[in-house]
Amino acid sequence: MPSLSVIGDDLKVELPSGEAVRFAHLDYAASAPCVQAAADAIQDLLPRYGSVHRGAGIRSRSSTVAYELARDVVAEFTGARPGDTVIFTRNTTDALNLLARALPPGTTTVQFDGEHHANLLPWPNPVRLPVPASPSALGDALRAALATITGPVVLTVTGASNVTGEVWPVRELADIAHAHGARVVVDAAQLAPHRPIDLGDLGADYVAFSGHKLYAPFGAGVLAGRADWLDAAAPYLAGGGAVTAVGDRPGDLTWATGAARHEGGTPNLLGAVALAAVCEALLAADRTALHDHEQHLLARLRAGLATVPAAAEVSLFGPDHPRVGIVSLALPGHDPAEVAERLGREHGIGVRAGQFCAHPLTRRLSGADRTGSCGDGTPGLLRVSFGLGSTGEDIDRLTAGLRAALTPQ
Ligand code: PLP
Repeated sequence: MPSLSVIGDDLKVELPSGEAVRFAHLDYAASAPCVQAAADAIQDLLPRYGSVHRGAGIRSRSSTVAYELARDVVAEFTGARPGDTVIFTRNTTDALNLLARALPPGTTTVQFDGEHHANLLPWPNPVRLPVPASPSALGDALRAALATITGPVVLTVTGASNVTGEVWPVRELADIAHAHGARVVVDAAQLAPHRPIDLGDLGADYVAFSGHKLYAPFGAGVLAGRADWLDAAAPYLAGGGAVTAVGDRPGDLTWATGAARHEGGTPNLLGAVALAAVCEALLAADRTALHDHEQHLLARLRAGLATVPAAAEVSLFGPDHPRVGIVSLALPGHDPAEVAERLGREHGIGVRAGQFCAHPLTRRLSGADRTGSCGDGTPGLLRVSFGLGSTGEDIDRLTAGLRAALTPQ
């Protein structure tokens, strides 16, 4: 699938031995590399772009068309329904903050404590539930919490954990939430690169994700979902584009409705178009084959890790729970940051160490008894994440590198 081939995948790095090796990028969950479809879309637009929704010339008109076509593609990618709106944002954090500010006054938000900070911190009146040890207990915990809340409620939940890669039973939780009259937000930052994110199939009212985790460059993200609250809320960014008429007196104005209301200022056309190009390529792709490739790499990683006793995969729901290409390791007796640094310097492998902007969850999974810190005295983990451009050789090199880094000299 050429449109989904990763560009720059032949980057070489020199090891201390002088040997040059292909860089093994295993940090897709932080930012995935760019694919050809995104690069082509940008290349195509660069020589002819102009301002979006702001000019009569050919550059401006064709840029407006390109921007709105990108929105249409994203609408298809998210399975947007009549009455839904698709808003281009900067990233997932921006999308969730936008929605959090658009909730009706007095809304209570329910969240589990395994969320990324982007989905933990923006929400008003949060009721935070500890993640139970079994996924089957999630529904009961949610039901019990919802029974105590009156007024508007929103459940905000991740599609896949950025720490353990575990896929959350979103549909089941959404059905419970809806039965209580609550709305459901899915943080799909880590789900979107690996699985379809259809609003209807997820049972979600809103979904948010980032282009830079979806094989497009930085700076564009998406919030898609029900328009009513968004149309009733104060604009996220007041300014040009968000308003249809401004009178002479302060406050004498008419805000736009639809996506424009929350897209004040000149939009990130190249980012939106690149993001949509990847969405289009994924819509046309054999998702089963992509899924199988990822699960093959996961199995290979686990087989390799079995030979590295000092590294233990962490999980919330157990090793058999479905997961995307993200695995975090506790390294008892070792500093994950130091190990990650050695993997980079000595083996040409890129992974991430630390707490991955999910402090409550990583604190719990790394355990108070673990040694190794992330510079702040808090135990951390080492995260391996992969996707479209990853190979079995990358995984094998990681296993060998870990074995070398964790074996006493
Ligand atoms: N949600 C999850 C699950 C994530 O993994 C991340 C980023 O790592 C975010 C939200 C925030 O994404 P961004 O930094 O693109 O806003």
